[in-house]
Order: sequence, then structure tokens, then C-alpha cells
Amino acid sequence: MIKVCSFCGNNNFSEKEVQYTYKHDDNILIVDNVPCEQCEYCGEQYFKAKVLKKIEEEFNQIYFHGKRTKKEIKVPVEKYVEL
Ligand SMILES: [Zn+2]
Repeated sequence: MIKVCSFCGNNNFSEKEVQYTYKHDDNILIVDNVPCEQCEYCGEQYFKAKVLKKIEEEFNQIYFHGKRTKKEIKVPVEKYVEL
């Protein structure tokens, strides 16, 4: 799919399943087991456009159409100056 890594120029990739965090404004969707190709040298992850589109559609289903997910987590939020 990809010939060279645009960050380091390496051309060896391995297929992985990773956790992907989609964020839009202050809304977050975490998706597990997302397929990607990862650069074996610098670790940069590359996702296919159709994969990202599917995640974006799911995000819209959840935040704009009220779809319920099987799992939800609470995420703490801090301001750096208050640490
Ligand atoms: Zn790389």
C-alpha cells in the first residue's frame, strides 16, 4: 500500500491492530483493533482512508444520532497550569 514512510523514509511496514482515538471538538471516540500499517523503524501508523471514514461515520452515529456503544469510559481532564 505505502512505499516509503513519509517521516523516516523506511520502506518496511508491518500490519498491526491498534487503538485509534478520534477527536472532534471535545468529543472523543476510541476504537480498538483498528487495522493499520506501522513503520518498522519509527513506528508511524498509516490507516487506509476507508478505515478512517468508517470511524468517522461511527463517531457521527454516536454523537449525532444517539447510537449507544457497548463500552464507555470516564476520562479525567486537567489543565496543565493547574497541575
Ligand atoms: Zn517511519
